[in-house]
Amino acid sequence: MLVCDKILNNIHHVKNITLFEQVSIIISPHSEEIAKKFYKEMLSNEKAANFLNHDDVKKRLTASMTNWIQSVFIYRENSEAINEFKKYQFKIGHVHGKIGLPVSFVNFGMYIIKQNISQLLIASDLSREDLGAALTLANQILDCTLQVINESYEGDLVTNEKDSHAFKVQFSTHNLAFDCERLRTSLSDWMRDLLLNIQHESFDSQSLLTIRHSNFGLWVTHKAKLFLSNRPEYISLTELLDKMDETIHQILNSLDNEAKKQKYLQALNTLVNQASWILGDIAKEIINQDNGRDPLTRLFNRRYLDTVMRHETASSLKAGCMFGIAIIDIDFFKKVNDSYGHNNGDRVLVQLAEMLTRDVRAGDFIFRLGGEEFLIVLGGVSSKVIKRVAEKICMTMRNTMFKLADDKLITVTVSIGTALHDGHPDFQRTIRLADEALYQAKHNGRNQVMAALQPSKTSTTINKKQIT
Ligand code: GH3
Ligand code: MG
Ligand code: MG
Repeated sequence: MLVCDKILNNIHHVKNITLFEQVSIIISPHSEEIAKKFYKEMLSNEKAANFLNHDDVKKRLTASMTNWIQSVFIYRENSEAINEFKKYQFKIGHVHGKIGLPVSFVNFGMYIIKQNISQLLIASDLSREDLGAALTLANQILDCTLQVINESYEGDLVTNEKDSHAFKVQFSTHNLAFDCERLRTSLSDWMRDLLLNIQHESFDSQSLLTIRHSNFGLWVTHKAKLFLSNRPEYISLTELLDKMDETIHQILNSLDNEAKKQKYLQALNTLVNQASWILGDIAKEIINQDNGRDPLTRLFNRRYLDTVMRHETASSLKAGCMFGIAIIDIDFFKKVNDSYGHNNGDRVLVQLAEMLTRDVRAGDFIFRLGGEEFLIVLGGVSSKVIKRVAEKICMTMRNTMFKLADDKLITVTVSIGTALHDGHPDFQRTIRLADEALYQAKHNGRNQVMAALQPSKTSTTINKKQIT
């Protein structure tokens, strides 16, 4: 139940039918003109213009805004019609939420519309009494509409905010898992170098004193402190660092006593092993915990798709560089399952995910959308580049032998649909375009790439830093 529900119901009272008609007759013929004025004003505001581009305004947005203005002043005779209207406003709020449009812009936009509508009503030949009623009605209905839009938008914003935050945390913890694995190698290298140096009596005592400045020491005192400070492993690691320092000191003091030196070296080796186990445990736990990932392939699942797409949309609008998406679907995958069993199907999915990870750049994002369908978000690309990347993936898959449980080798092919983000703030459109292209690729016989048909860009915002 929204705060404005009661007002909306009261306004749509049968006694107001004539008033609605009067307002509608005055406003409707001017709705396109109001929409144009609205976007002119918005585009002249530098910050608001970041969320728009001239092309879109010309092609779609003015027409949608015109329809919206007309729809607002239609009399709705029952609660069903009012609910439909509210759903429509909710949808608008969702789009605002998706692109992270600040509430202040929405309010500013509504202010422009209200002003234009009031002026039209005042300039009309309504009687003084009717004019008062018409202005009240118009203002009330616009206020209620704004409230519905903002309410759904704020709901989205909270979810988005939560997901962005969770994503950042996931992302950093995932990197942390990598760090842990790398540090294990680096620690054992460090220990081996130390033993060699002592054996050859060629060590530089200064280097021994720098365990705190080794990769491991620096990681514990900086990164682990930031991300793991509330975990018992962090305390164990800092304790180990202290003990290592102490033991190194003892080694240095017992260089002329072989038995003692060996004892302390042994002790240091044990400490290094303990640190390595702890690092391994942390890495394992982080990997098991991160639930934004698909457990089978370890790729991102859908959960963060909106967050990543919103982020890419915002940065492409801001920086004037494009991004593209490719949706990949395995051809006749059902047959793989039917012929070789579900487990072998899973093996193919895992190998395919590994290959995708190798084929894209480190900055790109790969998602498993579900089943045998994957989506890649490629930043800073032109339509040529995205087609080239997709063609390469398609060819790699075609030429790869996938290994099944009994070492049997099979081939599979994929179909890919690509689309370039066309500057429209609603990224779902780009996904839809890629999906349609994928459908086309399947329809044309599979094992191929189809790019979405998109008009060449003449936009003012997306034109500068395309990479070809
Ligand atoms: P098309 O070329 O039209 O895409 O044909 P297809 O057989 O790949 O497509 P369809 O949608 O008919 O079937 C997809 C199959 O993918 C059906 C389902 O059993 C299988 N599948 C979905 N998820 C998984 C999974 O996690 N593991 C395995 N092994 N199979 C899966
Ligand atoms: Mg398929
Ligand atoms: Mg499919």
